[in-house]
Amino acid sequence: MDIGTRLFRSALLALAGNRVVGKMAHRYGMKLGASRFVAGETADEALLQIRRLNAKGISATLDLLGESIRDLAEADRFKREYITLLERIHHDALDSNVSLKPTQMGLALDPAACYAHIRDIVEKAQQLTNFVRIDMENSPYTDDTIAMVHRLHAEGLTRVGTVIQAYLYRSRLDVRQLTKAKVNLRLVKGAYRELGHLTYRSMDDVNANMKRLIRVRLDAGVYTAVATHDEQIIAWTKTYARRNGIPASRYEFQMLYGVRVPLQEQLAREGYKVRCYVPYGRMWYPYFVRRMAERPANLWFVLKNWRDR
Ligand code: FAD
Repeated sequence: MDIGTRLFRSALLALAGNRVVGKMAHRYGMKLGASRFVAGETADEALLQIRRLNAKGISATLDLLGESIRDLAEADRFKREYITLLERIHHDALDSNVSLKPTQMGLALDPAACYAHIRDIVEKAQQLTNFVRIDMENSPYTDDTIAMVHRLHAEGLTRVGTVIQAYLYRSRLDVRQLTKAKVNLRLVKGAYRELGHLTYRSMDDVNANMKRLIRVRLDAGVYTAVATHDEQIIAWTKTYARRNGIPASRYEFQMLYGVRVPLQEQLAREGYKVRCYVPYGRMWYPYFVRRMAERPANLWFVLKNWRDR
C-alpha cells in the first residue's frame, strides 16, 4: 500500500469513531450513498434483501448495526432485537444466520453483562438450529472475544463462532487453538486501525498470512468461511481445496452486501456456498466509513451521488 493510500485510510478510520461527524452523516448519509452498502434502516428492509439473495442461491448473515454503545440499556435493546431476528428468520424460512459485535452487547462497559447477552442470543440460535457469528473488532477486544467463544462452547453452546484477522501477528496461534476446539471461524484480512507492532505492514504479508490461515483450517477440516473480495485469494482457495481433496461442503465464501456482486453470483452459480453479510440499522456510519477506507473509489462513488442529487 503506498503512503498516500495509507494516510487516506488512516484518516477515514479515525473519522469512523467521530460522533459529531457521525451525527451529521446520519442526517444525509443514506441519500448520499450508504444504501449501496447498507440494506436499510429497518429489519423489514433487510429481510427483503435477504429474500432476494436467497432467490439467487446466496445465503446471508444479518448484522444489526451498532457498536461502542454508551449504556447497557442499549445492549439489552440490541439483544432483544437479535432474538426477534432469529425468530423471524426461522418463521420466514430464510437462509440466514446473524453476526453481532461484542461492543454492541456491552463488552467495553461490562464484560459479564456482555457475555450474558450473547449467551441468550446463542441459546436462541441453538434452539432454532441457527448460528451466531461474533464479529472481531479492534485488538483491545480480541482476547475477550475469543474467551467468550471458548466459554460458550464449553457450556455446550456450539452454534457460535468468531472471526480471525490475518493482519494480526497473533492470529496464527489463535487459529491453531480455535481449530483444536473445533470452532467455526470466518477468516478476514482485518478492517481496523491498529498499532504497527501488532500487524503485518505490507499487503503482501497480510495476503500470505491469510493463505496460511486458510490452509491450516482446510487441512484440519473444521468449517471455515473465507471472507474476502480478493479474487486471487478466492482462486487460490478453490485450487488448494481441489488439489487436496477437500470437499466444498467444508468451507464457504463470504462477501459484503453491495461489494463485488457479480462475483458473489458467479461463485454461487459454480456451486460454491456464498454468504453475503447484510448490515442494516440506524447506526450505519462507522461501518460505512470502514468500507470507504477499504477502497478509495467508493468515496468517489458517494461524492458523485451527492453531486448528482
Ligand atoms: P482487499 O485486498 O482489501 O480487496 C480486494 C479487492 O476487493 C479490491 O481490489 C477491491 O476491488 C475489492 N474490495 C474490497 N473491499 C471493497 C469495498 N469495501 N468496496 C468495494 N470493493 C472492495 N473485518 C474485521 O476486522 N472484522 C470482522 O468481523 C469482519 N467481518 C467481515 C465479514 C465479511 C463477510 C467480509 C467480506 C469482510 C469482513 N471484514 C471484517 C472486513 C475485512 O477485514 C476487510 O477489511 C475487507 O473484506 C476488505 O478486504 P478484502 O479481503 O476484500 O481484500
